[in-house]
Amino acid sequence: SSDSTSSAPTKPTETGSKTPGGDAAGFEDGATIGISLPQKTSQNWVEAEQLFNQGLKAAGYNPVVQFANNGAAEQQSQIEAMIQQGAKVIVIGAVDGSQLSTQVEAAREAGIKIVAYDRLIKETDAVDLYVAYDNFKVGELQGQALLDGLAARKGAGPYNIELIAGSNDDANSKPFFEGAISVLQPKIDDGTLKILSGQTTQEQVATEGWDPANVQKRMDSIISGFYKDAKLDGILSPNDTLGRAAIASATAAGLDVPVVTGQDSEDDSVASVAKGEQYQTIFKDTRGLVDAVLKQIDLAKAGQEFSSNGVANNGTIDVPADYLTPVSVTQENILEAYANDEARLDIAKKNLA
Ligand code: BGC
Repeated sequence: SSDSTSSAPTKPTETGSKTPGGDAAGFEDGATIGISLPQKTSQNWVEAEQLFNQGLKAAGYNPVVQFANNGAAEQQSQIEAMIQQGAKVIVIGAVDGSQLSTQVEAAREAGIKIVAYDRLIKETDAVDLYVAYDNFKVGELQGQALLDGLAARKGAGPYNIELIAGSNDDANSKPFFEGAISVLQPKIDDGTLKILSGQTTQEQVATEGWDPANVQKRMDSIISGFYKDAKLDGILSPNDTLGRAAIASATAAGLDVPVVTGQDSEDDSVASVAKGEQYQTIFKDTRGLVDAVLKQIDLAKAGQEFSSNGVANNGTIDVPADYLTPVSVTQENILEAYANDEARLDIAKKNLA
């Protein structure tokens, strides 16, 4: 059924032409938009909840924003409910990116657009768009920061380091880890970096559920097993929550604060970086990410195609991607990095050593 000439039951769009040859009809004011977020494993997700609620309401949509606090199965049923409620777009930060193909395929059948938010949805062709900071780049920035921090704080090498990765069910854990390792591997190979525990694969260093308690347990046992007599110079951590757990474990064992990386610019880590404890974090401004999604939803509303500046291969297709650029933050650039974020800037200023 072509709607290219007939009047669809939507208002005529003021925003310009439809996609040439496309059959997208757009949708009406007040349309329901589903936002399915994972667990509150870091501050960015909590910020996203607020920003989506505010931004969607302000733009005249009916937001349904939910967390899947009990995991993948809960997220599956929440997405099924959003389909039943007639959502026009469903935006998903996946708990487990490989467990949603049934749900997103049902959404596509129902004419609903699926946007993967921050985390890619894998092994299905029913993903219309991926909106995210470039997560391989995040890993590269972490690897580079670890090297910079070791040189700046720990004198000449060789250095003893340990590795931490994110949760295996999160599709981001792999690009974070592989991005970092791409920078560190030459220094591991030439002996500048030593990993006394011998735990080097993503599988060995993963953190189930992004749970800081798991990092603390693992680091406690590594420290008592390998660092009684050796210095622990640095720890590659994929995010702030886990980075602070690693620092806590090291200091509880009486070690000097190692050079520790992170991401998310969580309040406690912004303070820690400013004080000269945690060496680095990353700013993936959630306001920018949510704004990017809101712009894309407006395009869909107007019957236009999503806009993209790259692709992300999800194992089945190249998903069109809208990538944003992450910023690495250390004590040195902290005031610049948060110049446009009053709350973080304030925390940085209060804690600068
Ligand atoms: C996000 C990170 C976050 C982690 C744990 C990842 O998918 O990209 O920003 O730290 O999940 O919540």
